[in-house]
Amino acid sequence: MSFTTTPNSGRRSLLQAALASASTPLFIRHAFAADTIDRFALGLASGCPRPSGMVLWTRLTGAELPPNTEVSWELAEDEAFTRIAARGVEQAVVEDAHSVHAEATGLEADRWYFYRFSALGARSMVGRTRTAPAADAEVKELRFAIASCQRWDHGRYAAWADMAKQDLDLVLFLGDYIYEYGAVSNASASGPAPRVHVGGLCRTLPEYRQRYAQYKSDPALQAMHARAPWIITWDDHEVDNDWAGDSSQGLEADFPARRAASAKAYWEHMPFTKAMRPKGHEIRIHERYDWGKLARIITLDCRQYRDPQVCPKPGRGGSNTLSIKDCPAFLDPKRSFLGEAQEQWLAQSWDAARPWNLLAQSTLMAQMNWQENPAQPRVHWTDGWDGYPAARNRLLQGLADKKLPNAVVLGGDVHANYVTDLKLDFNDAKSRTIATEFCGTSITSQGLDQQRIDRARPHNPHIHYGRGDQHGYMSFKLQANRLEAELRSVRNLWEADSEVEVSARFAVEAGRPGAIPLDLK
Ligand code: FE
Ligand code: CA
Repeated sequence: MSFTTTPNSGRRSLLQAALASASTPLFIRHAFAADTIDRFALGLASGCPRPSGMVLWTRLTGAELPPNTEVSWELAEDEAFTRIAARGVEQAVVEDAHSVHAEATGLEADRWYFYRFSALGARSMVGRTRTAPAADAEVKELRFAIASCQRWDHGRYAAWADMAKQDLDLVLFLGDYIYEYGAVSNASASGPAPRVHVGGLCRTLPEYRQRYAQYKSDPALQAMHARAPWIITWDDHEVDNDWAGDSSQGLEADFPARRAASAKAYWEHMPFTKAMRPKGHEIRIHERYDWGKLARIITLDCRQYRDPQVCPKPGRGGSNTLSIKDCPAFLDPKRSFLGEAQEQWLAQSWDAARPWNLLAQSTLMAQMNWQENPAQPRVHWTDGWDGYPAARNRLLQGLADKKLPNAVVLGGDVHANYVTDLKLDFNDAKSRTIATEFCGTSITSQGLDQQRIDRARPHNPHIHYGRGDQHGYMSFKLQANRLEAELRSVRNLWEADSEVEVSARFAVEAGRPGAIPLDLK
């Protein structure tokens, strides 16, 4: 078995070198034999960072893969792999699409590592990852980003390319990693869309696998996976638009089989632990992570355990936008967004000992009233927390009762940047702010008409920022006494190396819920 190296494989970071120059490709294969098949065409990833280890992911690609083959991995303190900290061998099997979920353990807390795979005479590129700080360690700073909604046929991934140039400890991915839709001809005045989905609507395991493989072929997405560990949850499009528990938008009878296929493909393509492997159509995603004494990160699953949306359009499931007068079921106190078990788990997961609690979930939590004039009754979209106001109130009341000073709710899904004050009574501007919300816009997915958001703003005084015409991500710097957020927006979605600009900056001071606007630097 021989490995050839890329021509300039010095000891210098190839990824850094690639990122430093806009004219070189963003992502450079660390080493592979030119005359062999590329076995690592989907890149690699790491996730679920803990003080003693993390998950290392890849999926073998290329023709003539044996049904069962060994993949070895190594993780080192240095990028030249002279000081190996852990290594192992995994079986990549056809039943799991030759995906690998290696669990590195016994590592030092709070430090960076480098990792790579080899299989069938080929070696992967090098990824960078890190462990979380020890639970009792003082932590000066955590730098992380939130991202969601990377619809392939709505843009290239300049947002990921920009994020890969930041020095982030962690990515929180909050849903819509793929979109299940089939190829659509979304030609515009400027011509046909530069990217289209391969295949039709995803329903089966091979179809979902193909979709993940298409998304994961993108070099900028691969580069960001190779830069830092990710903590990941899902939203609807990993399965089906607007799905809710056992019910799909199309009310299809065989939805459990589709859920099982999509959950399997999801697990296969994410840096998830072996223990997270789905059982039939169920996959346990919600989880707690601690970042030293600084923060607890809680991920939620907002899809799998929820009650179906209220008052759907006739003959179908899924979302609707309607007045509370036309749908009294909105206010049914029994309806759940997280399911009873997850709701109770969340109530026990808040951590009063750490200064910050970050709730990584998939959608906008603040009330968004879409009424167009004050004479109308309130109008809400039924798919988000607005469709489950009693459940939202239980969550926020729980926070208020625990007197947690610094809960920050992070979200995605709505393809717009929102910064909000979360309140027990959104209809009373004087109601105390319980927590701060940053709902990040999409990486690419098209958003709402900005004029509609602007018209709704006066009816939503707790929403301090709302921009559906921005796409990109939010970048955060967290310290014990302060959280800073930077909203970074891609100038041209179809340019892979588009400029990314800072649209807004906010701060949250410890002990004072609510975001404070900062000047643009
Ligand atoms: Fe989305
Ligand atoms: Ca969504």
